[in-house]
Amino acid sequence: MRVVVVGAGIMGASIAWHLTRSGAEVIVVGSGAPAASAASFGWINASFFHDAAHHRLRAEGLSAHRRLLDALPDVPLSFPGALWWEAQGADLQAFKDQLSALDYPVAALQRAEVQTLEPAIAGLPEEALLFHTEGVADPGRVASDLIRQSGAKMIRGVRVTGITGARSVTAVETEIGPIAADKVVVAAGNGAPDILRSVGITLPMLRRPGVMVMTKPVTARLSHTLVTPHGELRQLPDGRLMASAVANHQGDDSEDVIETPEAIAARVLAWLDPMIRDERVEWDEVTLAHRPVPQDGLPVIGSAGPEGLHVAVMHSGVTLAAIAGEVTAAQVLGTATNAQMALVAPYGPERFVG
Ligand SMILES: Cc1cc2nc3c(=O)[nH]c(=O)nc-3n(C[C@H](O)[C@H](O)[C@H](O)COP(=O)(O)OP(=O)(O)OC[C@H]3O[C@@H](n4cnc5c(N)ncnc54)[C@H](O)[C@@H]3O)c2cc1C
Repeated sequence: MRVVVVGAGIMGASIAWHLTRSGAEVIVVGSGAPAASAASFGWINASFFHDAAHHRLRAEGLSAHRRLLDALPDVPLSFPGALWWEAQGADLQAFKDQLSALDYPVAALQRAEVQTLEPAIAGLPEEALLFHTEGVADPGRVASDLIRQSGAKMIRGVRVTGITGARSVTAVETEIGPIAADKVVVAAGNGAPDILRSVGITLPMLRRPGVMVMTKPVTARLSHTLVTPHGELRQLPDGRLMASAVANHQGDDSEDVIETPEAIAARVLAWLDPMIRDERVEWDEVTLAHRPVPQDGLPVIGSAGPEGLHVAVMHSGVTLAAIAGEVTAAQVLGTATNAQMALVAPYGPERFVG
């Protein structure tokens, strides 16, 4: 069976890897259009969620990433855990209770305990929550590693313009001609709606720009993802710090960025610099990218339109790449279990029809 996967970000790469593992012949097509994966914060978590079903999918996402890492120990994925102090007092306790009720591993720590875990951080709060199972990835590198290790064939720099096939898919159309396919998976992030329109499928997306600020390398060492009232922060392997321009960046619903890049960097440094003990922090890079967020904020995972067409488009696609890859590959190959089908049942593309 020949499967064409449209999109070479972390989602398309994970789907391709899971498909080839099960014996499918896979061709990945990537246009080179900006990928959210390359600009992502890369936090793998289930502490951000919309409802219980979404939390469950994300928690399964963490487990699927561990399976991926067991199979491919060299992919840039790890599980350092996250320390959360977006709120204090009753609000922190309420969040802990909410997560505990969902059986999510969470522990409340006092300042001295947090300081032991993060000795380089100044101005720690009285209390923080520890999510010790959460992870981080370098999503751009995970994507290229997965495609390379999958053995899938790759077509780069070619834009897919549509899909052919009335009852069943037969090909994807590209700007330089068709590629024959028995099955097609559209995992093209913000590029997906234009492709799906060619077969009459509407996929409304939100406009959700996201800005990250990277610092010059620091000598301080951070061990966890830090979720502060100002924004999220983590350290990259080269010693640089990566910080989100807003608090709770995964839930940010701004449609436009209204500050200049330098104003954003200055605002982030105003909280970040005093946090790092005994050294001056300077900004290095400001990155703007658009998160692929379907209109209701939830993932799109499932089949739609002509027989053999599957869609996987979502925000928090780093958290969800491994589980969406497992389930989509199984759906394409007709081997999905009842448990897998139930997990993604709320996320079918047909919910936007009519
Ligand atoms: C600033 C920012 C911070 C984020 N932080 C997090 C986080 O901490 N945790 C988390 O889980 N998620 C986070 N996300 C979201 C996450 O990064 C995305 O959901 C994920 O990267 C989406 O991956 P993808 O492969 O679906 O899409 P993309 O990475 O956007 O890849 C889409 C691919 O499709 C290709 N393409 C597009 N159109 C076409 C076409 N017509 N023909 C051929 N190819 C095409 C592109 O070239 C690209 O290869 C963040 C996103 C941003 C922008």
